[in-house]
Amino acid sequence: MPSTLLSRQQAKLIAVTEFWDWQLHARCRSLGSATFFAPDGEPPGQRIRRENDAKKICGDCPVRAHCLDHALGTPEPHGVWGGMTERERAGTKNLTTARSTLLAS
Ligand code: SF4
Repeated sequence: MPSTLLSRQQAKLIAVTEFWDWQLHARCRSLGSATFFAPDGEPPGQRIRRENDAKKICGDCPVRAHCLDHALGTPEPHGVWGGMTERERAGTKNLTTARSTLLAS
């Protein structure tokens, strides 16, 4: 039985690894989170500039679709993911259409 248990654990580990594997190719991987997540009390003008900077990075990211799918499916309540801010995600009624439009741009 120990070998069966080990196999199940290995299978779970492989599944988790594959689930998060796209992040290894993220353009933001070595940039830190400051561009993508707002600090407490961020002034509106600074927020817009920060979010635009993040969106520019996302625009060239090879795993943008994976990232956006993750953010929409979880759903992620904070930060820029896949080129969408948290307000854009929260305010979008038809996420499928918004996703298609964003990824086509
Ligand atoms: S789409 Fe943007 S937030 Fe998502 S992994 Fe790429 S650079 Fe990071």
